[in-house]
Amino acid sequence: MRARFGHAAFLPGQESALAALLAGRDALAVMPTGAGKSLLYQLPAAMGVAPVVVVSPLISLMRDQLRSLARSGVPAVALHSGQSEEEHGEAIASLAGGRARLVYLAPERLVQDGTVELLRSARVALFAVDEAHCVSQWGHEFRPDYARLGEIAARLGAPILAVTATAGPRTRADIVASLFARAPEVFVSSFARPNLRLAFAPRADALGRLARFLRRRAGQSGVVYVNSRRKADDMAATLRRLGFDALAYHAGLDAATRAAHQDAFFARAGVVMVATIAFGMGVDKKDVRFIFHADLPNSIEAYYQEIGRAGRDGEPADALALFDPGELAGRFGFAPPADDPVAAGETERRRAMARLCLTPSCRFQALLAAFGEASDRCGRCDNCRGGVLTLPRRAGLVALGWRVAALARFSGVSAAAIDEPEAPPSLAATAAFASEAKKEEETLSVADERLYRELIGLRLAIAKRRRLAPRAVASDAMLRRLAIARPHALPEGETMIEAEAFLRAVGEAERVG
Ligand SMILES: [Zn+2]
Repeated sequence: MRARFGHAAFLPGQESALAALLAGRDALAVMPTGAGKSLLYQLPAAMGVAPVVVVSPLISLMRDQLRSLARSGVPAVALHSGQSEEEHGEAIASLAGGRARLVYLAPERLVQDGTVELLRSARVALFAVDEAHCVSQWGHEFRPDYARLGEIAARLGAPILAVTATAGPRTRADIVASLFARAPEVFVSSFARPNLRLAFAPRADALGRLARFLRRRAGQSGVVYVNSRRKADDMAATLRRLGFDALAYHAGLDAATRAAHQDAFFARAGVVMVATIAFGMGVDKKDVRFIFHADLPNSIEAYYQEIGRAGRDGEPADALALFDPGELAGRFGFAPPADDPVAAGETERRRAMARLCLTPSCRFQALLAAFGEASDRCGRCDNCRGGVLTLPRRAGLVALGWRVAALARFSGVSAAAIDEPEAPPSLAATAAFASEAKKEEETLSVADERLYRELIGLRLAIAKRRRLAPRAVASDAMLRRLAIARPHALPEGETMIEAEAFLRAVGEAERVG
């Protein structure tokens, strides 16, 4: 999995479903978007359980997966109506010759004459149905051809895997009845972790903060994640000098040291492991009480994996992540080349991580939403516990979010192409903004703030189009007044480039509520 797909650890639900499939059993996996459903059929194929038939409803989904599999070095083909005759012939030859590890098909193609015979002669090892909710008339995307998949699966005689991100109990029952001849193992993943308390803070005085954090948790075990080997060594040494039982863990240590440190982490209470992402694979210590991110992970998925190592015993556990505002605007904000879907995906995952740092609402709700799971406010995270955010803090988040959004908005446009690009925000600038905003923003409600941020986005779009500095289009104070007053005509004495566009935005926001 790591060599082919680059994942350091399983996401929730993956491992148990894979174990069932590799043991030859049938499985239905209901996993939120982003939970890595495709790995359930791609990994067996990469391991040589092949060929795997993947029934997929959309040619665009097949193409995405073929591209990413090509990058992973896993031979895969598709058979669909959007191919030339030549492509089609090559795909069939690859399948018949035993080269293709996966073959993607639309259900319409599967029910055509001869297809099942072709697959039977290729000795299919796994029959996977993606978007399996299409089987159910109860589901929101019923496709008549999906109704025949059960019969075809029975003729192929291979284990069956059905995956979907959207299947309530009734749809699940339909899928089981329609697709499977025997009762499958059913795996329903939720990303909710009701014992984890999430918190984020701008990175200032990281070591002092870490030391205070650890002192409050004396005798507890936890992991401090950093993004370089050297930092892991240095920070572990510093913490030892401060009296903590800290050990380093990274891929640069020899195997014996790594094993000794890992053993100590399991055996002794109160060991603080200062580690790179190398630490985590197969680490199943139940009573890890905290995860401290001294550096941010590169994606929201990695973040979820890493915090997921805390509190496996179900007892409360803390996850605190420090972020550098400048880094959010830089490393996390820039856009990839528009024609590279893989890079675009990576960028989106990094940005999701940045957005989680900046969200003024419930952290866990935002995290689950990133995985396609709707949830209530967790009531435990820093934002929930803080109730309504204190004004300087909220204003600081707005200021940060706004700069990152400014960068993110110009997908495919280099910073140099933006007139007078703003420097990434420094902490000092953020603090200055916060104290200035405190004076002016006493009455900004959540809805007002949302509108204010929208107006800032609109201002940036207009500024870019007209090649002006954003403040030449409208001042911050003016946007703030618009967000609060929601006028239908421009206030006396105000001038604003494209005033109509702003008033339309205000009216629209008001109408939507
Ligand atoms: Zn919360």
